[in-house]
Amino acid sequence: MPEYIQESDFTMVEEGFVARDLMEEIINEVSQTEDRDAFFVADLGDVVKKHLRFLKSLPRVKPFYAVKCNSSRGVVQILAELGAGFDCASKAEIELVQGIGVKPENIIYANPCKQISQIKFAAKNGVQMMTFDNEVELCKVSRSHPNAKMVLRIATDDSKSSARLSVKFGAPLKTCRRLLEMAKNLGVDVIGVSFHVGSGCSDPQAYVQSIADARLVFEMASEFGFIMKLLDIGGGFPGTEDSKIRFEEIAAVINPALDLYFPEDSSVEIIAEPGRYYVASAFSLAVNIIAKKEVHLEQSGSDNEENSLNKSIMYYVNDGVYGSFNCIFFDHAHPTPILYKKPSPDQPVFSSSLWGPTCDGLDRIAEHVELPELHVGDWLLFDNMGAYTVAASSNFNGFQLSRIHYAMPRMAWEAVQLLQRGFQQTEEKETICTPMSCGWEISDSLCFPPSFTPTGII
Ligand SMILES: *Cc1c(COP(=O)(O)O)cnc(C)c1O
Repeated sequence: MPEYIQESDFTMVEEGFVARDLMEEIINEVSQTEDRDAFFVADLGDVVKKHLRFLKSLPRVKPFYAVKCNSSRGVVQILAELGAGFDCASKAEIELVQGIGVKPENIIYANPCKQISQIKFAAKNGVQMMTFDNEVELCKVSRSHPNAKMVLRIATDDSKSSARLSVKFGAPLKTCRRLLEMAKNLGVDVIGVSFHVGSGCSDPQAYVQSIADARLVFEMASEFGFIMKLLDIGGGFPGTEDSKIRFEEIAAVINPALDLYFPEDSSVEIIAEPGRYYVASAFSLAVNIIAKKEVHLEQSGSDNEENSLNKSIMYYVNDGVYGSFNCIFFDHAHPTPILYKKPSPDQPVFSSSLWGPTCDGLDRIAEHVELPELHVGDWLLFDNMGAYTVAASSNFNGFQLSRIHYAMPRMAWEAVQLLQRGFQQTEEKETICTPMSCGWEISDSLCFPPSFTPTGII
């Protein structure tokens, strides 16, 4: 968790007021001054909606949010309030979620290759569930965390995903028997199987295949006497509406596969590790144009007007690929700018390129974008900037990270509370609570942690 992220701003927004309105408000405010730093608006209501969609579409699956995707405090905190679990991959991520009161049983240490000191840290802090895919890891865990509950990560066919993970992690099926045998000999407990189909997965069959493979590993494990009770179907779910496939379409394929291979009466607990799904669409970024250069192309004729159109324009903005736009390199993203001010229809457009603020020529955000002429001080907006953006931003060249302003719609806040009441009932009466079927219903007063107290009511 980068400590330098500034996120002091929470704003409670009333009905009819959307995150974009908050963005406008901030832009109006800072436009009075010279301080026009790039900033995010994070709509926590969007995260709440995603959670409700998840519970509705995958009713048998409990989400463990993958912290690496966006570890900003507002996101982690709202998901903790919603009762989600967390997929952590390091000591710092475990500290982050335990720091806001997440219980160890709601954490899976889902990194198959861990540093010994960090395994010991997990042991000391009660985190028992962790993944492995190789022999050496089993030896390390048997010495450093004898009470660990191990989850065997299997390899998947991730060829239809935008970011492949099985090149690095996952045991091929043919090695699983040997791994299970070794765990048995070392006295290490294995409780389940996990997989990850790759991030940004467009082929739901990849889940089906992996669920079927997991069933085979369950059978193998029970031959060795392990009591297998956890299936972890990983992440890979889309986070924006312009994805190749909708989340609901993937869920509609996963559910029957779960019912076939892990029927409800098998009493196997099923979890997932969605990252991108929860946060991609919640964040919008506003950047300011800090510099501009015109590039005149070959002049063709003598017509003056034509000549003036014969240029392309380079814009330099105050966030770039070393900051929030690292997603261009690490997540194969193609962010497209949205004009903050609507152009008049008769304005000519120019082929334009957008560059970040650092001195590196690699720091290019977009090329060949058709834009009307813009000026230093103008704003550009980018939607769908929540996944793998702030998470890997750097201070390279002395540029600060873009600040995050959180918008919390009152309706969403109330929905959170409703869900919390549901969870309490579950604990007290041991009945399963039915999540709301759609969006926003019912409410009451709410107890949020102090850090969530809104700073200003609009
Ligand atoms: C990155 C990662 C995730 C999250 O993946 P998304 O595609 O963002 O949902 C989940 N689990 C593990 C083990 C990961 O490494």
